[in-house]
Amino acid sequence: MKNETVFDLIGVGFGPSNLSLAVRLAEARGASSMKHCYIERQQAFGWHRDMLLDDCRMQISFLKDLVTQRDPTSRFTFINYLFERGRLNEFVNLKNFYPTRVEFHDYLSWVARAFDDRVHYGQRVKAIEPMLDTSGDVNALRVVSEDEDGREWRRVTKALSIGVGGTARVPEPFASLGPHNVIHSSAYLSSIEHVAGDDRDGKKRIAVIGAGQSAAEVFTDLTRRFPHVDATLVIRASALKPADDTPFVNEIFSPEFTDVVYAQSEDGRRSLIERFRDTNYAVVDRPLIEQIYEMLYLQKVSDETRHRLLANTVIENSARRASGHIELTMRDMLTGHAHAERFDALVLATGYRRDAHLALLDGLAPHLGDALAERNVGRDYRLATPSNFKARIYLQGCCEDSHGLSDTLLSVLAVRSDEIAASLSGAGRENIAGQAADTKKNGVSSGRMAVAL
Ligand SMILES: Cc1cc2nc3c(=O)[nH]c(=O)nc-3n(C[C@H](O)[C@H](O)[C@H](O)COP(=O)(O)OP(=O)(O)OC[C@H]3O[C@@H](n4cnc5c(N)ncnc54)[C@H](O)[C@@H]3O)c2cc1C
Repeated sequence: MKNETVFDLIGVGFGPSNLSLAVRLAEARGASSMKHCYIERQQAFGWHRDMLLDDCRMQISFLKDLVTQRDPTSRFTFINYLFERGRLNEFVNLKNFYPTRVEFHDYLSWVARAFDDRVHYGQRVKAIEPMLDTSGDVNALRVVSEDEDGREWRRVTKALSIGVGGTARVPEPFASLGPHNVIHSSAYLSSIEHVAGDDRDGKKRIAVIGAGQSAAEVFTDLTRRFPHVDATLVIRASALKPADDTPFVNEIFSPEFTDVVYAQSEDGRRSLIERFRDTNYAVVDRPLIEQIYEMLYLQKVSDETRHRLLANTVIENSARRASGHIELTMRDMLTGHAHAERFDALVLATGYRRDAHLALLDGLAPHLGDALAERNVGRDYRLATPSNFKARIYLQGCCEDSHGLSDTLLSVLAVRSDEIAASLSGAGRENIAGQAADTKKNGVSSGRMAVAL
């Protein structure tokens, strides 16, 4: 490590999770002495840019911004953002807790700008390597990243916060189609013009696959923006179902509920998550369902049924034909009847995998014992490494199994970053594996600690 800067913390990815941590560390007492930086593969801050569709709204109150639940007096609140932008009064007049995603993206970018000097944009982290001392202990980690020109960067850190978000999930029937005219919703806005924008060949048939919010938003966008597109929404369920955001149910997204989930046995956690799945997965905001229903109804009224919702439908096979079309073999689960249809393009709104951290940490696997395989993560989000693995690894956004449904969302960011900062400040603890096991046994975490970094 001679002559090398050794960071106290490197954040991999600079989405809302690590952004919230950056804010927390900036606001902690004595933080200036802590060396920390973030590495982000995008060229500039961006929050799901490819799904920033006109007028799509947040699914969470603006009060669950990056800081308010931890410290409503922070200068990084959404309210202060509105104030500094000169829109506070007008926002109040809207009488709406759910800003558009475009506005929330602007808020997040406004916060991110304050940390420009700590973020290395345009670099993708491709490997994490162990740094062993003479006794074989892993005291530090080397973070290897690559920029757009293929240049490699190496940085050393004592702790890592991995917040790399999800990776597009492409289910089996579509995996062999290749990317031509097959878009995942995570790349929607930057690809759809290329796929659907050209109307010189006349009508285009596009199938949207999925029953969640993204599928419904993409379907609506296609029907509104591309008059020459006939869109079909294909869903396995029997109907588009509304997201349950009623107040008692919403309590599962409060920071305290993380303790409740974490305290359960593995089966208990799984069953809790399953019971509340319809708050987040394969569900759609009620107003959007009503909008889609009315749009399809009005097409019936005018006898112009261009767009369709195919419910109870399983896609059994997909194939690319010589004409370039994609042929889907679909089975109606109620009648058992199968038929094939051709489309010009597909949009897969099929969700995200949450396992990107596994590939990143692969180089550490021989030193990690069972920590990764058993998904052994402490209440403080720290991977429970063996006692001779002293470097600390915090995981954000891939701990739904242990910490509950809010883990992949914005709901608990302000408090989670507080918990991680508190854990970082208690850096002297040696045997985190033992500590994690105790935490699990005793149910809840040690609670919030004052942070002095
Ligand atoms: C369209 C859409 C709308 C959503 N709306 C809401 C909502 O209204 N409310 C809510 O609570 N949740 C919402 N979510 C859930 C979403 O996961 C969270 O809002 C939030 O993005 C989680 O933040 P994150 O930082 O963990 O992950 P991300 O926002 O995904 O950020 C991860 C970052 O890591 C970077 N990265 C990945 N790999 C690497 C690498 N190897 N090297 C360097 N950088 C890397 C990525 O470029 C990205 O910037 C939405 C999700 C989507 C897809």
